[in-house]
Amino acid sequence: MKLYSAGDKGKALCDHCQGLVAATYAYRTVPFSDGEGKARNILVLVCDSCGAVIATPAQSTPAIRAAREVAVKPIELNLPAPFVEALDLAAFRIDPEAATEFRKRLLAYYILETAETEPSQKDLQDRFSRHGEAFRSDAPKRRLSFKVTPRLNNALDHIRATTSLTKTDIIKALVVKIYEDIVQSPSPRDLRELRRLAAVTAA
Ligand SMILES: [Zn+2]
Repeated sequence: MKLYSAGDKGKALCDHCQGLVAATYAYRTVPFSDGEGKARNILVLVCDSCGAVIATPAQSTPAIRAAREVAVKPIELNLPAPFVEALDLAAFRIDPEAATEFRKRLLAYYILETAETEPSQKDLQDRFSRHGEAFRSDAPKRRLSFKVTPRLNNALDHIRATTSLTKTDIIKALVVKIYEDIVQSPSPRDLRELRRLAAVTAA
């Protein structure tokens, strides 16, 4: 494996010039493969004839991945107040000194965990019916907005695909799960791990 520098010469296939071309390594801003967002100052191989980016050396992959993790999409939800209050109460039980930022981490933790466990639509919807009174939908609405990494967004999309629920209903069901797991349970299952997560978030 070779470490390339800006100005190094190379050869590669260029789609635009249709053939093997002489090329030069240079730092460029490159769009992500899905077209959403871009990574800045990435060392790539640029076609000498047309200036197109035609290859990415292995050494640039971690920088692109890191930029992707930072590229965030905001999720904006308007939830009946009890959902946001339950989430805050759970965050408070885990760590009374946790920053507001932590409730988002807590939700993120549950999104990733839920995506792995492949819940059915019924699993998630049954939670609402168990707590209809506590989570009345005629309560005033509260805004919950948070930014998610592409990985988290993929996990949400995955849950959406397997359950056919909307993003809002998924988040509501997860808040109810958080409420059952952490607020209602006398000895929450993942409390230690979540406390560590809270400590890291505050840092
Ligand atoms: Zn070219």
